[in-house]
Amino acid sequence: MKVFYSDRFVLPLPEGHRFPMEKYSMLRERVAATSICGPDEMRVPRAVTDEEILYAHNPKYLKKVVTGALTDKEVRRIGFPWSKMMVERSRRASGGTLEACRAALEEGLAANLAGGTHHAFADRGEGFCVLNDSAIAARALRVEGLVNKVVVLDTDVHQGNGTASILRKDPHVFTFSIHGGKNFPFNKEESDLDIALPDGADDGVFLEALTEALEQTLDRARWELAIFLAGADPFERDRLGRLSVTKEGLGERDRLVLSSCRERGIPVTITMAGGYAKEVVDTVDIHFQTIERAEMLLQSERVPKKTDTHNPTFDGLQRNRRHP
Ligand SMILES: [Zn+2]
Repeated sequence: MKVFYSDRFVLPLPEGHRFPMEKYSMLRERVAATSICGPDEMRVPRAVTDEEILYAHNPKYLKKVVTGALTDKEVRRIGFPWSKMMVERSRRASGGTLEACRAALEEGLAANLAGGTHHAFADRGEGFCVLNDSAIAARALRVEGLVNKVVVLDTDVHQGNGTASILRKDPHVFTFSIHGGKNFPFNKEESDLDIALPDGADDGVFLEALTEALEQTLDRARWELAIFLAGADPFERDRLGRLSVTKEGLGERDRLVLSSCRERGIPVTITMAGGYAKEVVDTVDIHFQTIERAEMLLQSERVPKKTDTHNPTFDGLQRNRRHP
């Protein structure tokens, strides 16, 4: 499976900053230690261009981000100090989603070991998000004529407010978000479908709501691509999330989202989104589990099916059908 990583673009953070930047390199190392990716399947993505960013963001905001002209207030809202590396990292992380989308269209499934920066709006960033990778990728692929209908499946504990806002009037992209109703952002935007869960929602509540919403969402059109935000923060021991989903529950979420898409022939791009567990290794476990599930599903799809013409039983059946 093709996997894109951008953890070498580390943005300098002050000591004690609450963003777990180390999760990205830890995750990449976990994936690299397995046989999930063949030779040359783990790649550093290219940076998205200004032109691609402008599919989702306005020129004034892009200029401020690139030149470091954001106000103190705008910088505080993002939550990262501005640096050239912050800009490069944001471009690469969005590039990872865009390239993973291209790979998914060719191979069914692919992943970006970053991205899911769903709190970035057309004209501002917030909540550790500078550029909205899902919106950039969906729009860029459409401009290139590769897809016409995209669905964003956002299962991070925080509502995908930036994504909902940017794509609100876009008939080609459907936005779905399942999140903690009382979690940040406190003023929610309107996605095409929102499911707000109560505090403490456990595996049962989370998975039941997700199952129903996925059916509603995936059956409403012939989606040509799904972008899955596999946030690790619905986890019960997350510092920022207010839900109580276990690691097993999140594994079941991954299976449910991935297989529901694949059963309908929809290619899926996985992005990581948030994860702030008390122990960073828990966040890495949850993200790694998503990649593992995807690989398992790809493997199962590669197993020759009963309809394989080399299957003698099937040949016999076909002959019988032709000559009853
Ligand atoms: Zn989150």
